[in-house]
Amino acid sequence: MILAPNIYMLAGMNYGTLGNVYGIVHQDGLLVVDCGRPQEAVPVIEATMCQWGLDKMPITHLLITHAHPDHCGNARYFQKRGAKVVAGEKDAKQVLRLGDYDPALFPCVLHDFEEDCLFEPCEADILIERDCKLKIGELEVEAILTPGHTQGGVVYLIHINGKKIMFSGDTFGVNGSRGNTPLLGTSASVDYCAKDFIASMQKLLNRYPDGILSGHGVPRFGNCNRLVAAACMKAMAERS
Ligand SMILES: [Zn+2]
Ligand SMILES: [Zn+2]
Repeated sequence: MILAPNIYMLAGMNYGTLGNVYGIVHQDGLLVVDCGRPQEAVPVIEATMCQWGLDKMPITHLLITHAHPDHCGNARYFQKRGAKVVAGEKDAKQVLRLGDYDPALFPCVLHDFEEDCLFEPCEADILIERDCKLKIGELEVEAILTPGHTQGGVVYLIHINGKKIMFSGDTFGVNGSRGNTPLLGTSASVDYCAKDFIASMQKLLNRYPDGILSGHGVPRFGNCNRLVAAACMKAMAERS
């Protein structure tokens, strides 16, 4: 699905799979954001890439928003295809490198642990330890650490063709019939932390994105800064 010039949805809720997967074409190839749940996402991603003529393109990078299996479950698949895997240091340390969701061993797991969440281990190539900027092709990628939903979550604000698109993972998204209802990642992790979550939402205020592309929910363009503020207000109201 083409969302905007050079921006594609490769798998996710518009394709009947869990965890949205996005692709961005840049001068050196394709950048992918999140990679979907193991088993189900890869055939869908491959079919979508064929559909839009992206399949012959080198995949240069995979940006992981956080180490839940519906977002990082196929990281090793992309690494084997040549992508550099980028992830928040704490999530990479806890889960991504080990790949094995044994809740007895690793704190950063889903409450609803399921066997089909197991995925091939993947050691990240680039660890995000602090807020920083990456240059990928002509794209400027702001990596913003957003602990809360998990300890090592990252929101990526990517500058594409003069626009800023916020890839918000499960920190927040939008849903509802008008795409106006904030969807908050205030649960699902055993390492969820409300205090960190609110601080992370506050970090995202006033960055004036032109689009919000989240881990679940609908793609949203227009009036996005107000939506970030609404999501932040909702997170604070839920806590009090
Ligand atoms: Zn998710
Ligand atoms: Zn998650």
